[in-house]
Amino acid sequence: MNKTIIVSNRLPLQVKIEENQLNVTPSVGGLATGLKSVHSEGNGLWIGWSGVTDEELNDELAEKVKKAVTKEKCATVPLSQYDIDNYYLGFSNKTLWPLFHYFMEYTEFENEQWESYKKVNQKFADVVLEHTDNGDTIWVHDYQLLLVPKMIKDKRPNTTIGFFLHIPYPSYEIFRTFPWREELLHGMLGSDLIGFHTYDYERHFFSSVKRILRLEVKFNEISYEDRIVKVDSFPMGIDYKKFHEAAEKHTNQEASERSELQKRLDDHLQADDSTKLILSIDRMDYTKGIPNRIRAFEYFLNTYPEFKEKVRLIMLAVPSRSDVPQYQRLKRETDELVGRINGQFATVSWTPIWYFYRSMPFENLIDLYTSSDVALITPIRDGMNLVAKEYVATRTNKDGVLILSEMAGASKEMNEALLINPNNFYGIAKALKYALEMSLEEQQKRMGILQKRLQRYTVEKWALEFMKTLNATKQNNGTIEAKKLTHQVQKEMMIDFNKANKRLLFLDYDGTLTGFVDNPEDAVPDEELITILDALNNLENTDIVIISGRDRPTFEDWFGNESYNLITDHGVWLKTKDDDWDMIERLKTDWMEHISPILETFVDRTPGTFIEKKNYSLAWHYRKADPELAQIRTVELNTVLTSLISNNDLSVLRGNKVIEIKSSNVNKGRAAARWLAKKNYDFVFTIGDDWTDEFMFDEMPEDAYTVKVGYKKTHANYYIKDSEKVRELLKMFISK
Ligand code: UDP
Repeated sequence: MNKTIIVSNRLPLQVKIEENQLNVTPSVGGLATGLKSVHSEGNGLWIGWSGVTDEELNDELAEKVKKAVTKEKCATVPLSQYDIDNYYLGFSNKTLWPLFHYFMEYTEFENEQWESYKKVNQKFADVVLEHTDNGDTIWVHDYQLLLVPKMIKDKRPNTTIGFFLHIPYPSYEIFRTFPWREELLHGMLGSDLIGFHTYDYERHFFSSVKRILRLEVKFNEISYEDRIVKVDSFPMGIDYKKFHEAAEKHTNQEASERSELQKRLDDHLQADDSTKLILSIDRMDYTKGIPNRIRAFEYFLNTYPEFKEKVRLIMLAVPSRSDVPQYQRLKRETDELVGRINGQFATVSWTPIWYFYRSMPFENLIDLYTSSDVALITPIRDGMNLVAKEYVATRTNKDGVLILSEMAGASKEMNEALLINPNNFYGIAKALKYALEMSLEEQQKRMGILQKRLQRYTVEKWALEFMKTLNATKQNNGTIEAKKLTHQVQKEMMIDFNKANKRLLFLDYDGTLTGFVDNPEDAVPDEELITILDALNNLENTDIVIISGRDRPTFEDWFGNESYNLITDHGVWLKTKDDDWDMIERLKTDWMEHISPILETFVDRTPGTFIEKKNYSLAWHYRKADPELAQIRTVELNTVLTSLISNNDLSVLRGNKVIEIKSSNVNKGRAAARWLAKKNYDFVFTIGDDWTDEFMFDEMPEDAYTVKVGYKKTHANYYIKDSEKVRELLKMFISK
């Protein structure tokens, strides 16, 4: 039976060792809740680190940990203190975390830590591989494990792999600074589905993939090697019921049941009718905008002094990564700011900021959420921000106002919050005033809509939606019409080839016989290719035809000394082995003088593009242009050309990063069909990589072997990965 495996840095368990005694308890975090149903299904498994290093374990304890986690349907990845220092505290938290949150100045690029990151990612992949069979589904989580999908896919291509990034994915301009950027992208692309919290992260990822790896992206699909990688956004929700029900219970509490914290909050709230509480909760992290928030609050008190002694900011900052210098500095700065502002504004009966530096149990969080009139959440950058959602879920009377930074992923789906720019103190102060004075009616209207959405798109729903899309990729990758040219098919093809009396091979040139180069003039046939072509050409009872959109002079130059069959200009010129060139289609070229100037305006406006003037066609190449600009320009150019050519017997062909305009009555299919009619061939093989080759595939007899290079939509029967594989295949014909 196929199973689902979840992989994350930490297991959803708390493993503690005290006096040689082991204590394992399930953790209650949002992710664990969301993935509960995925994990508990069938023989599901969760793989991750237990939280205990190799050094803390002797053999006996290690065995006990293994047994205990197996009982919870988990498996551990053993990590040493060195791994934790370098892979986790080092590379994950000092490189990827700041970089992906746009804190370039905090980002360290240490080779030793990168090496450790790779090694540990391999350790995770190895444990996964140990537990995986073909057909399994694997869901890898977050920035600590970006390389794992590829490590699994390379070894077990028949698994379905999903990856979800829980932090922001930065803009290309940030990501490009990363020294190992290609490896990281390849690592992620080992997946079949990549998920982000928001569409913005998704489009930043596309931008990196297009610019750095030069891959083709169509809508939300990336053609990668011989697969399609799907990318989508899945905004993570919370366990709404848990927070809402806890808040309801809290409202019905007897006075005697109230916590100490609640009593103190009540004291403040009951002092005066107009007294209000503003709440902020976050980990003490530089991404959370804590100093900004305090300064904005100071600005608020100075600008609107009527709120002095009326409002109080309760700030809960949970200690985090406190051995990293930037976090220590942030802690000092926060302490000082709070001290200064409290010192400056406090009266005998009022301190403006209540500041807690600790974590609080769930019950106290509910106290805080339910007692606060305003939640002030102001991260500088945040993948999602669950606190904002939890605050909304606890507002059982639909009152209260959420002020939320537009830099938090959550802002994309929480439009009814008051959205602010965390760097704009003036804007924050104004939003605070507006929130504190907002009518109950408006509060309830906004809160009602926010709650509805959160209630529907919970963390469980998030996990199920991701799994549904991941499972759909299995069909997606299966439905492309062409089948992979497997070894088995190749074997059958060789049998047909060997028993045939008259064989014909149509070979496209660019992207098929050679790989792509930036400049078309550089695609000169190399020695290996000439050797292969010569050998094919010398086979008995075998006609090979190189059929190309290239112009005749180029092929004359390249193959002038060889006696090959050549078709150029998409089928205008033909040269047979022992004969001279013959024009097989008569063409007009007077249209060129009208179209050329139009193409030139596109060249002027699109850096990196150029026009190739062939004898019978014009080609606009955009391979070296910025991919996003090129995408816009190709749509523009298509529109312009379509309106121009309708009466002119011209057609527009979209090749691989090229748009070509030529006479309609010429194409490779017509030329190939003429050739086919010459003899009674009993083995026909046709191979090509782009749109113009589809005309050939369409003209081939039923039993022909038609092969597309690259994994794209095609009318060919089979596909093959790239031009390197094409050469291997051609060598097979020679060696038979
Ligand atoms: N939280 C907690 N204990 C505390 C304070 C907060 O468990 O003392 C929880 C809070 O309920 C929320 C999570 O920590 O679920 C913080 O998630 P968020 O997405 O806001 O920020 P992150 O820490 O993941 O960057």
